[in-house]
Amino acid sequence: MIYRTNRTELESTRIRWQGTIQSVQCRAWVWRYKLDNRTHHHLGFNLWVKGETDDRSGKFCVAISDKQQQKIEFRIGDEVKGTAWPCINAKHDIADYYRAGGFKVLNRAEERISPNRPPFTGPVPALDIYSDRGARMLDSKRWSKKCFTCIWANKSAVEIEYDFGKVKRYRRETFCYGPKSCPQYEMGEPRPVHYIGMFPCMDEGWMDDLCTSGRGEDDWEPWGWGKLS
Ligand code: SF4
Repeated sequence: MIYRTNRTELESTRIRWQGTIQSVQCRAWVWRYKLDNRTHHHLGFNLWVKGETDDRSGKFCVAISDKQQQKIEFRIGDEVKGTAWPCINAKHDIADYYRAGGFKVLNRAEERISPNRPPFTGPVPALDIYSDRGARMLDSKRWSKKCFTCIWANKSAVEIEYDFGKVKRYRRETFCYGPKSCPQYEMGEPRPVHYIGMFPCMDEGWMDDLCTSGRGEDDWEPWGWGKLS
């Protein structure tokens, strides 16, 4: 049974949640400094869930650790319940809830075999695979529509060093860790990176090349997925 309490109370209260997993994506935050640096920090995984919590019903996002994902191996279609805390002022998280625990898988979805076409919905890789592969910017509409269920899709909290060591700005951006040859990929508009007293630098994609320089166009092959179709 889910009980509802008022919002102010919930901000400092552990909540209960329950629902069906719609997507499992890596959980990361990105540090940007002009065009000199774009560093992706990998924290764990985000579970995108449709269900209800003590303070809402519908879709919500629960942040979990790498260890929790390794242990339980959450997958799309699992019906799960647990507890978590509202993400209040958590600048490096985009989830609605974090510090999750008390998991119980109520109904286990069938294991999926990764299709050789996007979106890739098979088993979620280990977190260090994401760090090794690196990310490219992904159009935000692609992320929310065609790519949402893909294991390589990501929405990150972004910290912009606006006045070095003094002022930081925050926003959210979407990325893709998937094959460079994915036919579904679209970068979207170049992204401005603001710095005090300067015209904004534009991230037009060459930082993607740097971030993914360790892999080539055929980078789906090591996964044994066969030819991309
Ligand atoms: S563009 Fe990236 S996130 Fe989207 S389906 Fe292809 S690999 Fe997955």
